[in-house]
This record gives sequence, structure tokens and C-alpha cells, in this order.
Amino acid sequence: MTLTDEQKDEIINFTSELVKLPGESGDESKTAERVIRKMKSLSYDEVSVDEYGNVLGILKGDQPGRTIVFDGHMDVVPIREPELWEHTPFGGEIAQGKIWGRGTADMKGALAAMICAPAYLKRSEFAGTILVSASVAEEILIGAAFSKILDRNDVDAVVIGEPTGLKLGIAEKGRAGIEIISHGTVAHSSRPDLGDNAVYRMMEAVEKIRTLPRRTDPVLGEEVIELVEISSLPSPGNGSIPGECKSFWECRLLQGETKESFLGRWKKGLSGIEKVELKIAQINLESYTGVNMSMEDFLPGWITDNNQRFTALVKKSIGECDRDLALYAAPYGCNALVSAGVRNIPTVILGPGDISLAHKPNEFIKIEELLKCAEIYGTICRTF
Ligand SMILES: [Zn+2]
Repeated sequence: MTLTDEQKDEIINFTSELVKLPGESGDESKTAERVIRKMKSLSYDEVSVDEYGNVLGILKGDQPGRTIVFDGHMDVVPIREPELWEHTPFGGEIAQGKIWGRGTADMKGALAAMICAPAYLKRSEFAGTILVSASVAEEILIGAAFSKILDRNDVDAVVIGEPTGLKLGIAEKGRAGIEIISHGTVAHSSRPDLGDNAVYRMMEAVEKIRTLPRRTDPVLGEEVIELVEISSLPSPGNGSIPGECKSFWECRLLQGETKESFLGRWKKGLSGIEKVELKIAQINLESYTGVNMSMEDFLPGWITDNNQRFTALVKKSIGECDRDLALYAAPYGCNALVSAGVRNIPTVILGPGDISLAHKPNEFIKIEELLKCAEIYGTICRTF
């Protein structure tokens, strides 16, 4: 698929427009409104919004066929270091062959490309159904909102447009948030003999988990189990022996991990330490539609089967668009964890931009890469 100059301008300007709209997780309403208007102006067959605020656009080909979904999340992370930005963070400025601003790479560029490119095809140029999902809250609850789209639509393949620099994402580390809670007995700090210090117990537990043998995989590398936070009660602790301590661990999981297998290793590691509990973290957020979204923070990693038809088709589409093929294992978690990791739906991660620029000052996307990505998306639709 090749784009006309008019189409190129439309994708560039739409990306810039989306960057100018607010869209932190739970505050995507303005972005959603703009996406709905764009889909309608591009003559989508159906455009709807679900209870979480995900926007879903549907394009139907002349002939029956399979169903593919392109997903891009609308939310962005907040600006934490405004003084380090050389371009206005929400300016969507176009300069030096790039579009600048929060969310250009992660991932409003891909979102603009996946909304526009399939709609440029004639209905006679593709079979089946193309779904374009502009989902919410991915930055806080990975996969929770996108799961709603997958629950309601029978989908044969998924393209997630997270930034891969147009490399083909065929594997991804999963994620989990694990809490260890240690219990003790509160006492006056002058009489530690009357209490039972929960922090000392936690220190032992921390050491055990730090030295837990790590799993490795030739594609995904080593799993990550990292302590990110410790707190104790009462707080402030002046005068008291702490009676409770919590530590929070962020983990990046390999393929094939289950809650039972993962927590089983932790329990084994902690055996011999009394009064400690393990919990998988629960994440909650209110959507812009006022609905409470929640998820258990445990999503295993995945690796695509080498013989998968869909991956072969995407590889061919990349070649047809004169782009060299490079494969990629995503070190970050994204909505592909629920389509590929949990539901086993053929999925690729493929998008413009560099993940190392995401969530940081001076995020940008190269216009050339953005347009090439749109061509690849269109080509996938035509050959799917
Ligand atoms: Zn993202």
C-alpha cells in the first residue's frame, strides 16, 4: 500500500492533534471524542464506545473473511520533568522530520496510523472485518480494558502498535506485582523483648527472594524480580516496634509461568520464615466513564510459534513495503499480554518510534517511520 500526499498529511496532522489532547489513564475522554469524529469522517461502518471508554471502529470488506484487530492505547503517562523538555510536551510540534511530544511514540502515532490506513482501502481491497481499538488505561492496568474488546469480538489476529521501531515484536516478557506482608507484635521501643519486630522478619524474607534462582529463556532472557518499595506500621514509628511490614516487588515473567508455579517458588524460598503472607497485587482505577476498572497484576510472557500463519503474513507485508525484517522481543508489558499471553490469539507488536524515548522528556516519532508503519498496516489488512 502506498499513501498519497494528502493521506500522509492527514496521518501527520492527526498524530499532532492527538498529542495536544489530554489523556492520562482515566482521563482519555477528549482523545476518545476526537478518535470517534475521525473514524466517522473516514466512513467507518460502525463506531462505538464501551463502558470503560474504549472506542471501537469497524470496517467491513466486501467479501466475508477473518477478523483482525489493531489496538492502540489512548492514555499517556504524566509529565514529570517539564524543565527538561525542549519542545512543549503537549505541543505536537513538527520539526526536523519528527513529531514531538508526550505520546508521540507511546503511542498516538501508531494510533493515528491504524485509524487512517485501513480506512484508505476500498472495501473491495480486503476481506473480512477490520477492528480498530483505541483503548484506555493501558499505562496503569495493562490489558484490562483491551480484554473487554476481546471478550466481545471473535478475533483471529491482533496487531498492537506499541513502539518497536518497526521491528516485528514476536515475544514479550510478562509482568506481576507481588506483595510480601510480614506480621509481628507492636511494643514500646524501649522494650523490644515484649514485641516482635516485623521489619526484621521482612529483612530475612527480602534476602531469600533476592537470592531465589532466576529462570532464563533464550528468546526472552532472564526473568526480573525486583524489590521496589518497603513500608511498615505503625508509621511514623516513633516509639514503637513495628507490628507489620509490607514489601512490593515488580516482576517480569517468562513464558509458561502460572500463579501457582511462580508463587510456589516464592513460598519455597520463604519456607522457615513464620508469619509472612504472599499476595498478587490488585490494581484499580476509575475510567473516564466513571466505572471502576480492576485487574490482578499477573500476566505471563509469550513467544510466538515459529510456524504461525499470521506472523508469516506480517513478515511478507513488511517486505512488500520495502522494510528490512528485524525480530524483536519486547522487554516491556503491553496489551499483547492478554491477546497472546492469556488468550493465545496470534499477535504481533509492531509500531513506529523508539521505546527508550517513551515516558521520558523529548519523546518524538520520526515522520518517515510513522508513514511507513501506516503503509505496513494497510498492507496487512489487504493480505489478511
Ligand atoms: Zn504504550
